Amino acid sequence: MMETTGHDNVLPKLFSPIRIGGMTVKNRLAMAPIGTLYSSLDGAVRQEFKDFIIARAQGGVGMIMLADAGFGFTSLEAPAEPALLKAMVKAARELTRAVHDHGVRIGVQLNHCGRQLDFPIPGYKMVAPSPIPWSRRSEVPGELSVDEIEELIERHVDVAEMVKEVGFDFVEVKACHGYLLSSFISPHSNQRDDEYGGDLQGRARFALEIIGRIRQRLSKDLLISCRFNGSDHVDGGLTLEESRKLARLLVEQGVDFLSVSAGVYGSYPVIVPPFHAPQGCYVHLAEEIKGAVGVPVVTVGRIKDPRVAEEVLKSGKADMVAMARALIADPDLPAKAQRGAFDEIRWCIGCNQGCQDKIAGLETTCLVNPAAARERKMAIVPARRSKRVMVIGGGPGGMEAAMGAAMRGHRVTLYEEDDELGGQWRLASIPPCKEEFVGLVSYLSGQLHKLGVRIRLGSKATAKTVDKEKPDVVVIATGALPLKPEILGVERGNVATAWDVLAGKVQVGKKVLVIGGNGLGLETADFLATQGRNVEVVEMLEYVGRDIGPTVRWHLRHRLAEAGVRLLTSTRATEITDEGVLLVDRKDRSLCRAIDSVVLAVGSVSRNELVHEVEDMVREVYVIGDASRPRNGLFAIREGAEVGQRI
Ligand code: SF4
Repeated sequence: MMETTGHDNVLPKLFSPIRIGGMTVKNRLAMAPIGTLYSSLDGAVRQEFKDFIIARAQGGVGMIMLADAGFGFTSLEAPAEPALLKAMVKAARELTRAVHDHGVRIGVQLNHCGRQLDFPIPGYKMVAPSPIPWSRRSEVPGELSVDEIEELIERHVDVAEMVKEVGFDFVEVKACHGYLLSSFISPHSNQRDDEYGGDLQGRARFALEIIGRIRQRLSKDLLISCRFNGSDHVDGGLTLEESRKLARLLVEQGVDFLSVSAGVYGSYPVIVPPFHAPQGCYVHLAEEIKGAVGVPVVTVGRIKDPRVAEEVLKSGKADMVAMARALIADPDLPAKAQRGAFDEIRWCIGCNQGCQDKIAGLETTCLVNPAAARERKMAIVPARRSKRVMVIGGGPGGMEAAMGAAMRGHRVTLYEEDDELGGQWRLASIPPCKEEFVGLVSYLSGQLHKLGVRIRLGSKATAKTVDKEKPDVVVIATGALPLKPEILGVERGNVATAWDVLAGKVQVGKKVLVIGGNGLGLETADFLATQGRNVEVVEMLEYVGRDIGPTVRWHLRHRLAEAGVRLLTSTRATEITDEGVLLVDRKDRSLCRAIDSVVLAVGSVSRNELVHEVEDMVREVYVIGDASRPRNGLFAIREGAEVGQRI
């Protein structure tokens, strides 16, 4: 590795070039692989995928690592049909050229999912080193024979050759996260007693043979990276001590650089940790690996702030920093950071809702950036006529609508009845580890001020206000109110809503029962347990946290378990008294809980009475977010952006 002098900028180390093998990368900020699912396994490379990648190349990142499903031909489980291959190769060439036009390096991963599959592939049978499923509910995988391993090694090498032909700068052998090569390396999942099992050398043989043969066939024409786990984060899995040895083996075999991640399916923390994990949660792993090898080491793991990246690099713990979610949230983050415009960055909040957990569907989106992977559709186009737009409600949905409309040239006034912007979103930022949620409000309000949107705080808009203002358009984003369930005693003094508890409007006693095991109920339980209260949660359904994504739910459940919070599922509250709560469990048995306070988290109802009052007064009326139907903030922000585009 050869380094050159840093530029004269606020983050000199991050924005200094790095030399890897024969390749120079213009800066040390890489885009980590993102499974967008915008490029399907049948080989169709969709326009949304290309737009998504090119927007990130334009935004100033130095290097892009495409995930394994980036192109169908790199999918080792379901090799493409010859007829489709041609189209894929053409699309790949176009993409690598377009990325190179921005002075950005690009590589793609080779991966075989092995025994871990997120969604079914027709005809695919799970395979693994040993017939051990990754979870009790998962299919038992078939054990690969030595002949099958040999076939797969050759397939990896063939695909690497194609990767080179279509213009990628490097290929990344994916040996992390519990997928096939990782499952061979991990003693947790590999119990073979042949040459592909046993000690580390045997378990790593599969990955090492792939790397060695790629190097042999392609000489130095294509750089090779390997992404592997610094730790599996499961009992009996790969440890940091072994991963240091693995790193040396990989370098001896010819890799040009290493990328260090962590976790497998079912691990804690999860592979892509949500906001409960601190920024740079895997940097210590990269640091250890860097100490063991002489090739550049890339670190990853919830690093969203380029200033944090700068510190990591300055401290010598890694040579490059990879970000995925931070660049989904703002493709222009590198360029903004390089000029020191940190207040213009649309920060990722680590919610995982749109990207990793995909609560809005199979494809990647982003809670804070509704244009992610819809760059073309959401491009700002000036309005044909400037209209007077009145947005009622200053939560993120209303703010996003106001911003979009103002960017298109409309004259926008935003009404918020509270004394500050943010609405219900401010409550969402109160539970433990969620402080950064409020950054979205800061970003949006900063943009509204820059765009000249008139903001009326402490001003409740009524039909009279609308009549006086005579706008061309009204956007109603008035949110929701907490729902009160029909339970005997719900009006008693020892009952409060989760919203009031989080807002600090009411104090609860030492022993608390939270009614409702949705995301709000669980986070409120976390909030109260952190304050030292004894907390129980009752949920009518069989599972808790149905309205939140699996990674957030997994972390939250761990936190609650550690804090001693009891979760009672398939149980409902039937009566609240001054002394306690009567419950009925799944077997229709009555239980009595002696508690001091009850907290209600059973959902919400739309607040949209204004709609009927103004719909005959104004030609265009839009209702968005919870005012339309109570849901996750992702939908409110998306609808706000879409309305801003439509007006
Ligand atoms: Fe970040 Fe959430 Fe957007 Fe994912 S959905 S990129 S975690 S803000």
